[in-house]
Amino acid sequence: MVTYLEEASAVQLGELRGVIALDGPSGTGKSTVARRLAVTLGAGYLDTGAMYRAVTLAVLRAGIATDDEQAVLTVAEHVDLRVSADAEHQDVLLGGENVGSEIRGQAVTLAVSAVSAVAQVRALLVARQMRIIDEVCQERGGIVVEGRDIGTVVAPDAALKVYLTASSDARARRRSLQDSASFDDTKRDVDRRDQLDSGRAASPLQPADDAVWLDTTNLDLQGVLDEILALVDERDLRGVAAGR
Ligand code: C5P
Repeated sequence: MVTYLEEASAVQLGELRGVIALDGPSGTGKSTVARRLAVTLGAGYLDTGAMYRAVTLAVLRAGIATDDEQAVLTVAEHVDLRVSADAEHQDVLLGGENVGSEIRGQAVTLAVSAVSAVAQVRALLVARQMRIIDEVCQERGGIVVEGRDIGTVVAPDAALKVYLTASSDARARRRSLQDSASFDDTKRDVDRRDQLDSGRAASPLQPADDAVWLDTTNLDLQGVLDEILALVDERDLRGVAAGR
């Protein structure tokens, strides 16, 4: 069972109309950009990577080898996972326990690409992601969704698809600052995950044909946000928010 956490307060209709799909490899600033974008536009927010990470944590806790695809799928089928669809609440609940920090740890980071390469696990999570997106769009008008296959598989009809890139040195530098880890170790991990995520058979990381490419190597957060908000306005994706 995978659902999203209902807000305690009534959800208001935001400005964004439709789905913004943000894809790209790790270290491009995707998560920070996606959250800021969602807050700016009053939209929902879905971190699909957190869902793959939470299933991976459940697999590790069950003591299952990540190459035992059938056992991994069984865990994914039975996991009690609830994720936030709000950029200001980063809760990820596994069996009611908030595992938001643990899923960012090294053990999960090392194992997640193997779990997310299992086609049936992807099918299961993609179906949940599609449902969450539909529900949040009905409630709030729009949602920013980040991942690797959003523009290609999860939301192929998204109103705006952005594919974020950056040089692998820039990505490793950002990640090592974020995780207080050495540059060399982080670069090895970034390169390893890129290879696994791009080389897998089931929905490999690849830009949608109609995605806008945005190279963030030489842009700061505000610079990236400005570029994406310009695209939002160009496509007229801001509706009139209720009560404004
Ligand atoms: O975005 P994040 O780094 O948290 O994602 C963790 C991992 O989850 C990725 O390296 C990738 O293996 C997997 N993932 C995926 N499809 C997505 C999101 C994440 O395969 N839509």
